[in-house]
Amino acid sequence: MDYQRILEEIYREILPFAREGRAADYIPALAEVDPDQFGICIRTIDGATYCHERADVRFSIQSITKVFSLAMALGCEGDALWRRVGREPSGTAFNSLVQLEAERGVPRNPFINAGAIVVADVLAERFDDPEGRFLAFVRSLCGNDAIDYDDEVARSERATGYLNAAIANLLKYHGNLRGDIERVLRFYFLQCSVAMSCRDLACAFGPFADHRAPFVFGDVTLTASQVKRINAIMQTCGFYDEAGEFSFLVGLPGKSGVGGGIAAVCPQKYSVAVWSPRLNGKGNSVMGMKALELLTTRTEESIF
Ligand code: GLU
Repeated sequence: MDYQRILEEIYREILPFAREGRAADYIPALAEVDPDQFGICIRTIDGATYCHERADVRFSIQSITKVFSLAMALGCEGDALWRRVGREPSGTAFNSLVQLEAERGVPRNPFINAGAIVVADVLAERFDDPEGRFLAFVRSLCGNDAIDYDDEVARSERATGYLNAAIANLLKYHGNLRGDIERVLRFYFLQCSVAMSCRDLACAFGPFADHRAPFVFGDVTLTASQVKRINAIMQTCGFYDEAGEFSFLVGLPGKSGVGGGIAAVCPQKYSVAVWSPRLNGKGNSVMGMKALELLTTRTEESIF
């Protein structure tokens, strides 16, 4: 498969959409990023990489980090984790309070904010230094010790994170947040601020594309079955309230973030990361979605 040529053709084909959508601005630091950027990187499970455009520019991966925190929590808690967070698509916005109230503080899945805040609480309870442990895990997945938090983005989000604070309070009220609210939110916001390039992100998702290889990174160990189940949750819950559409158009498990990044896996073939900050009305990168739709169409490789 000539992935390099396919990536170049795809880029030419999606250029007409380059000005569609708007970058997220509810986190002030994200509004400062030049919205007219695009990068993509494919990494096959045997380690070959194919990149195009700004694949080495770092960006805020935001909710994509929820895959890493879930992996870490599942590694230490095992199935006990599912007593505190579900694994059903939410059908509502990623930061909705209404469903959380109706369902008495048990978030639908680990990829909406409420679920990820519960996962952050699990990690904060388990480790003295969750920030350090989380970063070590992500660095090990990327094979890059230069990966870091972006303190400016984390500060900016903390200063305006009223809805996430409301979610944390509701979780606490229902007894599903055990630690100190401020402490857990500090970790959650810092987690979301991790910055990396498409090249790093494709590498970080490599182990999810290859569940047959041992998953041992930092001090996180997962079984093949756990890796497959994380992929299943990506498939059903990875794209806000557009997971069905992504499954329909692209057909790969993946996760998006409001920074405009999307990471996805084609099991036993490759992982792919794409980034472009302009988002559609559901919060997913316009060019990112188009690029992945064309990728699975051209290659005829998807999970279906
Ligand atoms: N840090 C963002 C928030 O909590 C993450 C949102 C996202 O990427 O979906 O609002």
